[in-house]
Amino acid sequence: MSADGRFAPSPTGPLHLGSLRTALVAWLMARSQGARFLLRIEDLDPQRSRRVHEQAQQADLRALGLDWDEPPVRQSERTASYDDAVAALDAAGRLYPCFCTRAEIRGAASAPHDALPEGFYPGTCRDLPAAERRRRLEAGERFALRVRADGERIAWRDRLLGERSGPVDDFVVVRTDGVHAYQLAVVVDDAAQRIGEVVRGADLADSTPRQILLQRLLGLPTPRYLHVPLVLGPSGARLAKRDGGATLADRDEPVPATLAGIAHSLGLAEGRARVESARELLAAFDPERIPREPVRL
Ligand code: GLU
Repeated sequence: MSADGRFAPSPTGPLHLGSLRTALVAWLMARSQGARFLLRIEDLDPQRSRRVHEQAQQADLRALGLDWDEPPVRQSERTASYDDAVAALDAAGRLYPCFCTRAEIRGAASAPHDALPEGFYPGTCRDLPAAERRRRLEAGERFALRVRADGERIAWRDRLLGERSGPVDDFVVVRTDGVHAYQLAVVVDDAAQRIGEVVRGADLADSTPRQILLQRLLGLPTPRYLHVPLVLGPSGARLAKRDGGATLADRDEPVPATLAGIAHSLGLAEGRARVESARELLAAFDPERIPREPVRL
């Protein structure tokens, strides 16, 4: 397994300090091991993705001194690879069409007899009689494609969070609007780009069991994972773009001061008021020093 890393933002707005901090850790992780670092643009959602945000995000990453080895790959240009993965899952009998609306899923999941983890699919369409499935497909009902996960539990070890395990529900791989789901695309791309170190925000830790299941079903390697604890905003909730001073453009201080603040939150550059470039942090970087709890910057 390589030590190659990546940062994979969705171009839906400016990067806030939490995302910049995660990008910095991903870059330090790769570069401190002499490995490649790639930028991937996760622009599968056509409603929310904008080219202007891509440009602005890359400008902010460069302002911190981050660089990447190849021109960034856009997921919107990789749909043929995702289609291949869908075909492979289908051929293995692991997909089924799901006709449920969001409201139906919420209703079924909150039924008192079902103690499902939040956001879990209750399995309504999993065992529809074949005739009913055919009738609904022929009637042109809209459907998503879900993976038959059979409630499997997946255990994994996070570099920071330690031993974790979680059940996997029958999650969506192709949305009702035909767009490939994040879970599928990220797995296909991390394998295609030979990523060995996935560093990303802790909000995605719960997605990891789903992604490991997909890797196993598709015969792809499982990278190492490091989920970076979140940055909190002034209210104590997760930092949001609307919080004042949450993006580089919103800061009323020069970039080197902000970079020093981010570095301190990672146990780096103590006592320094300015850090001109991420390169200055390479020698002292140690993932063990990243705090395990959410931080306030
Ligand atoms: N595109 C995802 C996001 O912006 C990150 C995906 C990943 O790193 O696995 O939240």
